[in-house]
Amino acid sequence: MIKDNLKSILDRLPSGVTLVAVSKFHPVDSIMEAYNAGQRTFGESRPQEFEKKVPQLPSDIRWHFIGHLQTNKLKMVLPYVSMVESVDTVHLLDEIEKWGRANSKVTDVLLEMHLGAEDTKQGLYEEEILDLLFRADSYKYVRFRGLMGMASHTDDMSIVRADFERIEDYMAYLKDLFPEYEDFDQLSIGMSDDYPIAIECGATIVRVGTAIFGPRQY
Ligand SMILES: *Cc1c(COP(=O)(O)O)cnc(C)c1O
Repeated sequence: MIKDNLKSILDRLPSGVTLVAVSKFHPVDSIMEAYNAGQRTFGESRPQEFEKKVPQLPSDIRWHFIGHLQTNKLKMVLPYVSMVESVDTVHLLDEIEKWGRANSKVTDVLLEMHLGAEDTKQGLYEEEILDLLFRADSYKYVRFRGLMGMASHTDDMSIVRADFERIEDYMAYLKDLFPEYEDFDQLSIGMSDDYPIAIECGATIVRVGTAIFGPRQY
């Protein structure tokens, strides 16, 4: 089942696009099923759950943290992740830098860009992202890898596409403006319902949970 789901998604991904299997709320057994089918990159969004699962799973898994990260939970997450996709405040970035200095670990991050109309949605505004990149050299323990975005929560795929096109355009603008940041090349957009659209909009990372593991068991 999980194996078949993975295969049908991977068949639709162009080469060079990374599939993050989002395993939040799914048991270790399900993760192992995906692992045994060859999947190595997984995404989790809750520090407590993540901390419990990590020691039960193979050490060659590349973990992406994709959820809201409170700064008092950094030590539960940062030692084990290959990327934090969900940097949504300057404060969080500063704390990742501090933790990295104290622990001699450089963390790859994506800046989560605010998309959609709802005021509650998390993410950095375009001006904040620009501001950060202008002083990216002052961060020694953070490697800026690109942007992450969550489309508006709607069934209207024309709105989703417009959100993805906005972040795609902004990514292109930043790459143009900062050609010296060669590592800044990742665009993480697209989930179970909209990853095919995300691919058309230049996604290099898609984050898929339900379409691999089925509905989450809350
Ligand atoms: C849960 C989650 C996903 C996966 O969502 P699905 O609809 O189950 O594919 C992707 N990205 C983030 C940030 C998530 O929290």
